[in-house]
Amino acid sequence: MPAIIGVVGGGQLGRMLATAGVPLGLRFRFWDPSPTCPASAVGEVVVAPLDDLAAVERFTDGLGAATYEFENIPVETVRRVAEHVSTDPPVRALEVSQERLAEKRFLESLGIPVARFASAGTRAELDSAADHAGFPLVLKTRRFGYDGKGQVIVNGPDELDAAWHTLGAAPAIAEQLVAFDRELSLVAARARDGSFQAYPLVQNTHEGGILRATVAPAPGVSPQVQDAAEHHARAIMDELGYVGVVTIEYFEAGGSLIANEIAPRVHNSGHWTIEGAVTSQFAQHLRAIAGLPLGDPAPRAHAAMINLIGAAPPVDDLASIPGAHPHLYSKSPRPGRKLGHVTVVADSAEALAGRVAAAERTIFGGSGTTSGP
Ligand code: AMP
Repeated sequence: MPAIIGVVGGGQLGRMLATAGVPLGLRFRFWDPSPTCPASAVGEVVVAPLDDLAAVERFTDGLGAATYEFENIPVETVRRVAEHVSTDPPVRALEVSQERLAEKRFLESLGIPVARFASAGTRAELDSAADHAGFPLVLKTRRFGYDGKGQVIVNGPDELDAAWHTLGAAPAIAEQLVAFDRELSLVAARARDGSFQAYPLVQNTHEGGILRATVAPAPGVSPQVQDAAEHHARAIMDELGYVGVVTIEYFEAGGSLIANEIAPRVHNSGHWTIEGAVTSQFAQHLRAIAGLPLGDPAPRAHAAMINLIGAAPPVDDLASIPGAHPHLYSKSPRPGRKLGHVTVVADSAEALAGRVAAAERTIFGGSGTTSGP
């Protein structure tokens, strides 16, 4: 078994990977531009910009395996790391998920339902793309979009010019605005021998494009919908020769799934698994990339995860919430920044609802709620 796992990126996902990996006998090295990144508390950090290829050998020296913890890293960096050490998920997974047009075409090629979309590479092409997608539509930049960044809703032809310029006249994709009933996501894992495990679909609430809360398992998911999502995940991972954890984000409309995005990594909507599942998504990812058998993904509680965005109450307050598990990422507060999360667990959906209400009073000071089982 590899002794040291290298992780490109040292954010909270890296921090939680290491927290899950130490009991498996693993140690961690991160590559991050900041010496005080969240993962610096749990492993050594090679401090360098992520496009500084001169750091590749320093990072890979002595590693048993490597992975990455967010998708907006230069593909070339991961390609170079992979020349020195076994690196998962594969580079192609990163390429596909970094470019929204490639991603939608990839999903479509596997027969996975997606919103109507068309390429808007130029302002001229945007007109025909809008005809195809129909209004209202969402115009999204092809690259570096995450947490709702790089996208704008367009209600009619007269708004196209402004939208195009808002996104910096960059190559884009026009997508039908889906009138969804709710948002769901699936976290699944594939090991090197092709074995597969999936967590139950969870229900996500976003605000301003940022995940606010997750309820796990999502209430009222039919076995057919769960099966469909697992079938999609298998198809994606088999096609890519994928090893590790993947996340698929969905819209659910009229009882059907429409895939929105693939994240080739552990995911914010999977944080509930730390306390709420037999094997956490972080342990599962490490098991896959380190060549260990996959763990049991079964839930062991009803769980809700609430993100702490922009501000976080004192940890004493969070720790006093019944059934709550605070996770703070050691980041300085900034508007829109994920500073931590709280997972609340309970034996029943009813008990969970009460605890979530208490947690939200503590977190939001009795003002509006953002989640609810
Ligand atoms: P994304 O950056 O693609 O993950 O989008 C962030 C959030 O914007 C999603 O979670 C949805 O809440 C919303 N969104 C993105 N694309 C669409 C769409 N085609 N229709 C409706 N809502 C969307």
